[in-house]
Amino acid sequence: MCRVTFPCLTRAMSRSSSTSRVMWAVSLWMTSATKPIRSAASVRETLSATVRDVADAYRDELAPAVARVWDDEVRVLERDLLRWLDHISPDPNGWEPWRFEFAFGLPDDRERDPRSVSQPARVGGRFLLRGSVDLVERHPPTGRLRVTDHKTGKDRSTRDQVINGGTVLQPVLYAEALENVLDQPVQSGRLFFCTSAGGYSSHEIPIVDRTRALGIEALTIVDRAIELGRLMAAPARDVCTWCDFRPVCGPSEFKRTRRKHPALLEDLQELRSRP
Ligand code: SF4
Repeated sequence: MCRVTFPCLTRAMSRSSSTSRVMWAVSLWMTSATKPIRSAASVRETLSATVRDVADAYRDELAPAVARVWDDEVRVLERDLLRWLDHISPDPNGWEPWRFEFAFGLPDDRERDPRSVSQPARVGGRFLLRGSVDLVERHPPTGRLRVTDHKTGKDRSTRDQVINGGTVLQPVLYAEALENVLDQPVQSGRLFFCTSAGGYSSHEIPIVDRTRALGIEALTIVDRAIELGRLMAAPARDVCTWCDFRPVCGPSEFKRTRRKHPALLEDLQELRSRP
């Protein structure tokens, strides 16, 4: 049985009732456990009881206006957490949680893994990256690592996707960054669609020469755009529809930016053609 660190889940509820924050809490709990979770059944009851306790505590503090809505939200969180647990413990391929919210080059934050490092990662020999990896897993028989980026939406990844036209850089670049700051080999990076909405599917990308090159190419294109003063808004068709910043940009940004001279966007179009 793992050691349960109740405050982790408490913090999650205080930040947000979103599934992603609870994922954060429970993963932190798992990586701080005295030993890996060997069976989902062994911790289901503990997990459910903890969710209830925390929800009760925060009901008093947050005083939700409609109790039924609050209760429904908590039930959804608990359901997603339990299903998530079923998917990850034990991992069929032997991966074990090792670090959660592992940061490099960021200021100290008690909600990050305490073993985070203060120095930024150097990627491709020249790019300094700062960031925080959702989850780092370790494969004890080989000593290799796997980078996981949690996604709470639907899985729209395609089979051959690596950087998806430059829109999904975490799996490859975080893998490169970890190898730099930890000096340990990373076998793969993955997107884990960790809720019922995402079907708990996993899109795994091997870290090999080809995928590394795609990540570095994306950085090179962004770097060049900055240097040439061409890092401009140029949203792809339909992406503004779902963007949180639409109230700021307005409804016509796609039409407006289409009038820019195509030569200014050649690099970007090249990047968007990458898998
Ligand atoms: S709404 Fe603005 S920030 Fe969002 S994708 Fe469109 S242009 Fe970019």
